[in-house]
Amino acid sequence: MDCIFCKIIAGEIPSKKIYEDEHVFAFHDINPIAPVHALVIPKKHIRNVLEIAPEDSETLLKIHQGIQHVARELGVDQSGFRVITNTGEHGQQTVFHLHYHVVGGRQLKWDM
Ligand code: C5P
Repeated sequence: MDCIFCKIIAGEIPSKKIYEDEHVFAFHDINPIAPVHALVIPKKHIRNVLEIAPEDSETLLKIHQGIQHVARELGVDQSGFRVITNTGEHGQQTVFHLHYHVVGGRQLKWDM
């Protein structure tokens, strides 16, 4: 499958890894929009939130535990942060492998 995030998980494309477990991979976004900008992704290829199925429930929990780990590791658990998952054309999704942006390290506004 020609998926850039599957290749990052496989180590075929380099990334700045923050965290990894059986279900989840987390790394620094290559084009950060804030002092902290990480991506937390499932190892399973899921296109976006519209393709999450009941059998993915454990993966979803692991993603949220990964987000907690990343927030603590990058020091934004006390100050706060935002979790975003862009979906489809109007959501400006550009990589069609489910991913959660973890953005923080400065005061965010609703329009970022
Ligand atoms: O939500 P969206 O699909 O637009 O986000 C994709 C994100 O993946 C972008 O923020 C982009 O900077 C990031 N990216 C990355 N490393 C790559 C390719 C894309 O961090 N090699």
